[in-house]
Amino acid sequence: MTKDVYDFDLFVIGAGSGGVRAARMAAQRGVRVCVAEAAALGGTCVNVGCIPKKLYSYAAHYADAFEEARGFGWVTGAPVLDWERLKARRAAEVLRLNGVYQGLLEGAGVTIVQGWASLLDEHAVQVQTQGGRRTFTAHHILLATGGTPSVPDIPGSEYAVSSDAMFDLARFPKRLVVVGGGYIACEFASIFNGLGARVTQLCRGPQLLRGFDDEIREFIAQEMSKAGINVRRDTQLSSISSTTDGLELTLADGGRLRADTVLFATGRVPNVTGLGLEALGVARGRDGAILVDEGYRSSLHSVYALGDVTARVQLTPVALGEAMVLVDRLFGPAQRFMSYDYIPTAVFTHPNIGTVGFGEAQAREKFGRVTVYRNSFKPLKHTLSDSTERAMVKLVVDTASDRVVGLHMVGPDAGEIVQGFAVAMKAGATKATFDSTVGIHPTLAEEFVTLRQPVA
Ligand SMILES: Cc1cc2nc3c(=O)[nH]c(=O)nc-3n(C[C@H](O)[C@H](O)[C@H](O)COP(=O)(O)OP(=O)(O)OC[C@H]3O[C@@H](n4cnc5c(N)ncnc54)[C@H](O)[C@@H]3O)c2cc1C
Repeated sequence: MTKDVYDFDLFVIGAGSGGVRAARMAAQRGVRVCVAEAAALGGTCVNVGCIPKKLYSYAAHYADAFEEARGFGWVTGAPVLDWERLKARRAAEVLRLNGVYQGLLEGAGVTIVQGWASLLDEHAVQVQTQGGRRTFTAHHILLATGGTPSVPDIPGSEYAVSSDAMFDLARFPKRLVVVGGGYIACEFASIFNGLGARVTQLCRGPQLLRGFDDEIREFIAQEMSKAGINVRRDTQLSSISSTTDGLELTLADGGRLRADTVLFATGRVPNVTGLGLEALGVARGRDGAILVDEGYRSSLHSVYALGDVTARVQLTPVALGEAMVLVDRLFGPAQRFMSYDYIPTAVFTHPNIGTVGFGEAQAREKFGRVTVYRNSFKPLKHTLSDSTERAMVKLVVDTASDRVVGLHMVGPDAGEIVQGFAVAMKAGATKATFDSTVGIHPTLAEEFVTLRQPVA
């Protein structure tokens, strides 16, 4: 390799999902790797994303569990949430994970530098550490700097917080307004509703969760409303002001709302500010996303980028997958590419959504004729729990090939269920294969292999 010329073979900026995986896998191949991180190891997912969010989602589910337990004969008192204890327990777990990441990197022989990094040229990086500026050279440089919340520019936006702040709010908000209709907005609305806040969700468009199957969108909006969230569609926020009774929100239609906390979950933009990309002419797209080829190479030959900073599929497993493909491509032996087909995903609303493949409308556009199977029902558990929550399962089949091209559900543990089906769909499973698969009884998942009557 290039041992004599550069300090490192690979320099990674950003120790989040993608950066840590790339650094660790490359070091395990025997190459010399350095990673620079400005904040805590583990990035968004570990510190302010997937992990703390899922922990809080578990916390919120207990509210339902306490309620439902009565229907099964349990006699319980009124449950009380200790917000300080939940925050402290989450913080301790995140700190433990930071240490795990440090151990993984150091164990693989990666050099960790704490500080803000920027590109000096196509083989040099400068890191602003506590002890001053340090410069490193490397044969390859990987930008894995992730994304950051984007905040709408309206009067009073300084009174609102982003998802980063929600895990550590000094006081639990009795009244929460969530602005946004995407998955992060819906998840926080569900979590804080479950934890006991009175939640209003403002969605600019006619429906939540753009990009998901339309029936699933309608179904989850109804379930979230039934659970107590005031979902307001076609509603735009104009301004926020501070009053003696919390924050006052003015809507575009003149309406007013009061809140203790306003969460802007209005999208995320690539983290590129201060990276020195302009000076080097690195090609960028919308919101500054770094443009890369299918091997994650940017317009500079020795500089690569992956994960959220490329603003393609913003999910942790995708960043991990891209990192492993990149390491294989750079340090051999495989010259493979990442497959972006049939990426499954979950939304941790209450109830959960799990989805893989095409929504019905998307499938019609892509395949022409499709056959749709759907069922919605009360899950067995709720026959005794007295909960009115319902579940939905849906299959979209390409009529010509019989291949199942879309699988969607709303219901408990949807992510756990859909992960398994995603393997079958990746392998090209047809509806006939689903039909010949024996169900596991009594489960919710068995509905997917017992759907027989098309609805469209
Ligand atoms: C609230 C929330 C919930 C989410 N839930 C899920 C989920 O359930 N499932 C899922 O798959 N995904 C989820 N995501 C998305 C997921 O977290 C991201 O897709 C993933 O973390 C992207 O990884 P990354 O490596 O691209 O960037 P990140 O993990 O964001 O890492 C980037 C790192 O780079 C560092 N950095 C940035 N600039 C510099 C610099 N100049 N110098 C040094 N360091 C720098 C940052 O501090 C950060 O640590 C969620 C995101 C959010 C915000």
